Amino acid sequence: MNLSERDKKHNWHPYTQHQTAASFPAIVKGKDALLWDENGKEYIDAIASWWVNPYGHSNTFIADAIYKQLTTIEHVLFGGFTHEPAVVLSEKLMEILPPNQKKIFYSDNGSTAVEVALKVALQFNYNKGIQKTKIIAFEDAFHGDTFGAMAASGITFFTEAFQGSLLEVIRIPVPTPGNEEKSIITLENLLETNEFAAFIFEPLVQGAAGMVMYSPEILDKLITICKKNKVFTIADEVMTGFGKTGKTFACNYLNKLPDMMCLSKALTGGTIPMAITTFTQEIFDGFLDEDINRALFHGHTFTANPTGCAAALASIELLQTIETQNNIQRINQSHLTFENAIKNHPKVKTTRVLGVIFALQIKTNSEESYYGNLRNKLYAFFIESGIILRPVGNIIYILPPYIITEVQLQKVYSTIEKALEII
Ligand SMILES: *Cc1c(COP(=O)(O)O)cnc(C)c1O
Repeated sequence: MNLSERDKKHNWHPYTQHQTAASFPAIVKGKDALLWDENGKEYIDAIASWWVNPYGHSNTFIADAIYKQLTTIEHVLFGGFTHEPAVVLSEKLMEILPPNQKKIFYSDNGSTAVEVALKVALQFNYNKGIQKTKIIAFEDAFHGDTFGAMAASGITFFTEAFQGSLLEVIRIPVPTPGNEEKSIITLENLLETNEFAAFIFEPLVQGAAGMVMYSPEILDKLITICKKNKVFTIADEVMTGFGKTGKTFACNYLNKLPDMMCLSKALTGGTIPMAITTFTQEIFDGFLDEDINRALFHGHTFTANPTGCAAALASIELLQTIETQNNIQRINQSHLTFENAIKNHPKVKTTRVLGVIFALQIKTNSEESYYGNLRNKLYAFFIESGIILRPVGNIIYILPPYIITEVQLQKVYSTIEKALEII
């Protein structure tokens, strides 16, 4: 039996209906934007393995940093201790985060980064004896799969079975072009009630919804309304962080600053699972007291894992090289050229580009479900063609690693053009 067959015996995969799923390719090697399966078939990883891997697979610079850390101090508990990688990483983050972000809380993945932000928003008010127990989020948001993150998520496909067991989250429309006023008015009306602790959003791009985009100007307005009403704003940059939108953070496009930020995915260049929630000084100070009960009683066994911190430091160093920054610009330019060429295709409804993110919506007669037939047909076609793309409903998006070559990128585009012919 090969790996694909052996996998079926014990492994339960994410977002997978195993009764109908085919067997999955077993990847045995990766280098830069390429992956190879056990049969020697080559794939271009055009979505950076779920957006985590901008600097390429098997990156030796990050690997060396990890090895060095593993053979110095691989892990030490962060409760009652500290270590150099966490100190240096936090200092480094202070250089690149929006200037109001002053405190760093470490955890393990995007969902936990969101859990921490939501818990902090709720407990901040609890500590002050203020009754604010509800959260505001966008329709079609995705913030992760743990309970708090799931409550904040609006893609019901993921959360249907758990309605009734979730934190109370009220949704406002996504301010996509044409829906700005509706979004603002809904938020203003909600905030009249004074029961909301926070507004959580994916800044500028809703990844899992299919790279749905809206403008920084409108997000500035929504943040301003929240600030006026003393509602914390949480920018979930788990997907957008570390260069995806063309700037280090999507929030760098804003004039108003969020109170908290959630980071993960590209943080360690796709090597060690790690996440960060960042806070303003004001929020941190809301937990200071003689009473230990006002402290944040949240932690994870691997909080601030030194190896993860070392991987993050190496990744940020790579992000800041001129080479990486040039690559981000190059991919953006190529996307814009491709967008121009494809946007008038009779089967294309809309296209959008921000930074290294490209998305194309296919014209369909009916609503396409998240994992519907069209999506499955497209996905199978791309895999067969040696391109890893995971369409969402009728949306095809590209979010390549920054090191993807121009030749590889052109192959991704031409495969998308071919896909439009087979549907
Ligand atoms: C992926 C994602 C998450 C969840 O991260 P996990 O590491 O999968 O838990 C949260 N928010 C956004 C915006 C994401 O894209």
